[in-house]
Amino acid sequence: MVIRFWGVRGSIPVPGRATNRYGGNTSCVEVRPKGEPPIIIDAGTGIRKLGKLLLEESFGDGRGKASILISHTHWDHVQGLPFFSPLYRAGNEVHVFARERDVHLEAVFSQQHDAPYFPVPLSAMHATMQFHGVSEGASFDIGRAKVTSARLNHPSVAIAYRVDADGASVVYCSDTAPFSDMILAHEFVERPPSGILPLALLEELAEMRAGVVALAKNADLLIYDTQFTPEEYKKQPHWGHSRPDDAIEIAMAAGAKRLCLYHHAPMRSDDANDAILAGTRAAAQAAGARFEVMSAYEGLEVTVGDA
Ligand SMILES: [Zn+2]
Ligand SMILES: [Zn+2]
Repeated sequence: MVIRFWGVRGSIPVPGRATNRYGGNTSCVEVRPKGEPPIIIDAGTGIRKLGKLLLEESFGDGRGKASILISHTHWDHVQGLPFFSPLYRAGNEVHVFARERDVHLEAVFSQQHDAPYFPVPLSAMHATMQFHGVSEGASFDIGRAKVTSARLNHPSVAIAYRVDADGASVVYCSDTAPFSDMILAHEFVERPPSGILPLALLEELAEMRAGVVALAKNADLLIYDTQFTPEEYKKQPHWGHSRPDDAIEIAMAAGAKRLCLYHHAPMRSDDANDAILAGTRAAAQAAGARFEVMSAYEGLEVTVGDA
């Protein structure tokens, strides 16, 4: 299968000269099992360009079928959906998978289409849309691909996905804080400076980490949130993002074959991203890692297994 990166940025789109090489669009990755419809992970602003290209395939005459796996509904992961052109063609079928919430998923997604935020309500989309609630740890099939999931450590909770197809696997693990200092959900529970988290919470974190390591077991490609430098993490640990060293640690524990740095901070320039990539490669080598380290940029294409 082929994995294509359409948006690699966290938080907010950042077009401009300093971000041209890596790209300024927010989170969106296309996973394309051989001969199968696209499985899109996250609908940040990167999904707009992907949608335009899909119109040149069967989506142009209303015969397309796409699945969109949403990690969580923060803006940088859903904001591109109203601009996804295949939704405006009758006959297309779009399945949206996201974590089950108290509110019905369709209502969550339709809110950003409502006036005065957007002129076209979700109910006016011509394509057939179906919303599927995903419970943490759920697994299901999309065509010939097998999808599995795990809970992440992020405000309001995010979900990591693994797609297995064509004898290979890709794991998308964004957004998450490390599994050491605090638990993030509706509220966050911080490790007190003078002590440690209560045992039950430490166990919960350990369980979350184990779930992610199991999800990424022997993955051919592990895409991981590395928004923060160590200094930034110290200032905003409750924002729910990791550092390159956290990604290395998880990739080593899981035996992943390739690690891809992802969800770059909005203020990170291309040169700063280059430096982080070089530093992470050196750190991975020093730690005895066997995997290759790459950094996501718009237009990056990675083939794993048969393509
Ligand atoms: Zn994000
Ligand atoms: Zn988020």
